[in-house]
Amino acid sequence: MKEEIEYLKKYYKGDYKQALDRLKKGEPVQYIIGNVDFYGYELKVNKNVLIPRRETEELVEEVIERSKRFLNPTIIDVGTGSGAIAISLAKRTTSKVLASDISEKALEVARYNIKKQNLDIKLYCGDMLTPFIENNIKVDIIVSNPPYIKENEEIDEIVKNNEPHIALYAKNNGLEYYEIILKNAKKILNEKYLIAFEIGCTQAMEVKALAEKYLGEVKVEIKKDLSLKDRMVFVYNY
Ligand code: GLN
Repeated sequence: MKEEIEYLKKYYKGDYKQALDRLKKGEPVQYIIGNVDFYGYELKVNKNVLIPRRETEELVEEVIERSKRFLNPTIIDVGTGSGAIAISLAKRTTSKVLASDISEKALEVARYNIKKQNLDIKLYCGDMLTPFIENNIKVDIIVSNPPYIKENEEIDEIVKNNEPHIALYAKNNGLEYYEIILKNAKKILNEKYLIAFEIGCTQAMEVKALAEKYLGEVKVEIKKDLSLKDRMVFVYNY
């Protein structure tokens, strides 16, 4: 709490007493301040989007490196929320970036952040890959940090009580959205491709099995985050 209070003092621009009150009532400091730093970019956040996590910056870092194997690739960020992944990839790679989210309210936040960063990222409202399939869009790289918390999983109260459940929870042991993406990926992927997921730390083997089930002979790489927990899965064929 002490750290959050310091943070609030430093960055909150309105009535400090009121802000402190919200903090004490259990609201995340990032929602109170209204923005966060993600990969060096200031992004607006509110209760309609997940607060971008440090682990997701690690995913971005990996995708930037791996995108160098493609020439001006088309990248999609599925379930973009605040636009954090899409924006940092558009800034740091020579690619065309598109993004989708099922929540129109989340897309409002993403749209604001994209505009503020002077970027050209086309946004689609729709479920997972559906908008890309419907618009006949072909892509080289799929990136996603989908909801992956199991329905009965214990998570921090502050997360559970404040962040959008639509961005957190997934059925089928948290695997629902990985399966939907992997099952449909072939419909939009170019011949050479990369799929990059953030995952829950117990899901690596299950996501790998799903990738093999739906994509056949592919390479699957599991990477840990800085806390040494399995956090990313890369599925690729090059
Ligand atoms: N990493 C988030 C958390 O720990 C969960 C994000 C997600 O489900 N994609 O709360």
